[in-house]
Amino acid sequence: MSKLFGGIEAGGTKFICAVGTASGKIDNRVVIPVTTPDETIPQVIEYFKNIHLKTPLSALGIAAFGPVDPNPASARFGHITSTLKLAWTNYNILGAIKDAFDIPVGFDTDVNGAALGEYRWGEAQGLNTFIYITVGTGIGAGGMVSGKMIHGLIHPEMGHMHIPHDHKRDPFAGVCPFHGNCLEGLASGPAIMKRWKVDSVLDLPDNHEAWELEAGYLASALINCILMLSPQKIIIGGGVMKQPNLLSRVHPKVVDLLSGYIKHDTILKNIDKYIVLPGLGLNSGICGAIALAEREFKGSLIA
Ligand code: ZN
Repeated sequence: MSKLFGGIEAGGTKFICAVGTASGKIDNRVVIPVTTPDETIPQVIEYFKNIHLKTPLSALGIAAFGPVDPNPASARFGHITSTLKLAWTNYNILGAIKDAFDIPVGFDTDVNGAALGEYRWGEAQGLNTFIYITVGTGIGAGGMVSGKMIHGLIHPEMGHMHIPHDHKRDPFAGVCPFHGNCLEGLASGPAIMKRWKVDSVLDLPDNHEAWELEAGYLASALINCILMLSPQKIIIGGGVMKQPNLLSRVHPKVVDLLSGYIKHDTILKNIDKYIVLPGLGLNSGICGAIALAEREFKGSLIA
């Protein structure tokens, strides 16, 4: 019988918990709202305990919102660190789950988890250098370089990169509490909603100028990723990308901004296969958490 893995996609507003196997099949999913660690974590533990009693899990994986400490050599490995969600500041989420289960527990950022899910079963299969970026309530990115998940001093915070901002065209100051008009400040879902005074980004019609502006901001960010990391592919997901024609507006802008400098057919002729939506759709995150469990179980760390 194939091994069973548990995954926790620990998002900022909800935790998705599910079990899955090495085939990538996901089962038995629940959604637990995020309040405080004292309320949320016991529900997560109870969910997996009930499963574990009937069918033993081989490992668990946590793909967590952050910032987190993803460095296994650090005393604070597995902690959520300086989050704006104050009840979770300095919370040892990895420790809490490890204390409850006597099985391996994998851990990484939510976006690195999603990237690993895409690597294992989605659009990044067979690649060794790629980026996964999500554009939603916030903007985050993770990925792999030369076969290793990107970590470093902490982990990349590409969502907060500085991009050109034409204040005449777009006088909106941005919503990032730290930087104002960083990428997340200008192009996240909350930025779009506040700029255009709508309750949902999908309320904006397809021909609204919001989408040209958004595509330009995303294209600026993506060329920075291309120029810095030379990814073999960029996977872009998140709620904002549900706008049906946004990605097709981003493609030509990326080519334009590169200004003929990178003469590679992948970009010049196949941009629509180079910058793509997640192969796993909305399941990248939870599949990624299960992939973290599988990786931890195998002990063959990519990171
Ligand atoms: Zn920022």
